[in-house]
Amino acid sequence: MLFGPGGAGKGTVADRLVDQVPDLWLSRSWTTRERRAGEREDAYVFVDRETFEANADADGFFEWAEYLGNLYGTPVPAPPAGADVLLEIDLQGAQQVRRRCPGATLILLKPPSPAVQEERMRARGDDEAHVARRLAEGAEEVRTGMTIADAVVTNLDVPQATARVAGIVEGCRAAASQGGGSSREPTAAPAEPLTPHPDRHEGS
Ligand code: 5GP
Repeated sequence: MLFGPGGAGKGTVADRLVDQVPDLWLSRSWTTRERRAGEREDAYVFVDRETFEANADADGFFEWAEYLGNLYGTPVPAPPAGADVLLEIDLQGAQQVRRRCPGATLILLKPPSPAVQEERMRARGDDEAHVARRLAEGAEEVRTGMTIADAVVTNLDVPQATARVAGIVEGCRAAASQGGGSSREPTAAPAEPLTPHPDRHEGS
């Protein structure tokens, strides 16, 4: 699972990962946020709050959270047979997944600097108030994220970050197969905790 502050590049890295790594299935989240200008129609399932809450009440979400006034949720995963699930979520969602699925692999993707994070958010059309709030929260999200993450990757550039995350996924699959467990369960987890990634102890 990829998590981290807004502007870290999670969406871009997640899209590249599913293109590059076989048998990886990216969950499509629901949100009550309005679609941004130019954003893909299938970036989320865009719904109103009532529809979202009805699905939450019906236990239709694996996890959900409110982020800056909008609701975001991961539907209960239904991947094709044999595929591993990739989630791209915020810190609160990562904390819920950690509680619900202790063996899940949590990868914190962080921006190389607040300036780059700000530039990425502006480039994709986030409004000014939103950028300011996210920057203020981003540092705290990274600090807390470091305490629950199995691995930390700094997104210096997309190909490099994607390659690092792909390496982590391969490591998980190898560990799962050596441990005799399956890495192919929907929400599953490698059989053993991840070997600390080289980025794990880098300074933040
Ligand atoms: P954005 O509005 O920029 O698309 O997303 C805002 C934040 O919500 C991002 O940190 C994104 O990763 C997170 N997010 C997207 N989908 C989900 C989800 O299903 N659950 C949770 N908890 N967070 C999500």
